[in-house]
Amino acid sequence: MTTRNIIIEPDAILRKKSETLEKVDNELKVLMDDMLETMYAAPGIGLAAVQVGILKRLIVIDVSKEKKKKNPLFLINPKIISKSKKTSVYEEGCLSLPGYFAEIERPAECQIEYIDYGGKKKEMKASGLLATCIQHEVDHLNGILFIDYLSKLKKEMIVKKLVKYKKKLNKIVL
Ligand code: ZN
Repeated sequence: MTTRNIIIEPDAILRKKSETLEKVDNELKVLMDDMLETMYAAPGIGLAAVQVGILKRLIVIDVSKEKKKKNPLFLINPKIISKSKKTSVYEEGCLSLPGYFAEIERPAECQIEYIDYGGKKKEMKASGLLATCIQHEVDHLNGILFIDYLSKLKKEMIVKKLVKYKKKLNKIVL
């Protein structure tokens, strides 16, 4: 397993729609393993393939609180089939928006269908942090970032600061 580079906003690829995966093969498993390692190393609780530059409908999630007990979820072609009317608010961050957090309101529960690591079709009902995380990651597959839910002014301010941050990163030569 190797960690991959996480793409930081603003970047055109983060705004593209990811494509449906046709099959679960070894190449995909390598990508899933790499994504999980990248997410744990960051550290984060969710990562979409587009964030490592691959426009495929794939996300990895682990919302387990205890670091010793890992509980990774691999969701291939995840599709939200229903959302609750009840909403909840979580402070969200994003590995593509390092250092920024905002309270975002989303449906409190959602039901999804997806293909798992072994290639099996599954359904799952999620609530709490997991439901928020799934919706955040599925947004990535559709080119949406959590800052899109903020006011235009707030969003522009964050993007402006990220542009500066990325320029600084590029200046570091080793
Ligand atoms: Zn994110």
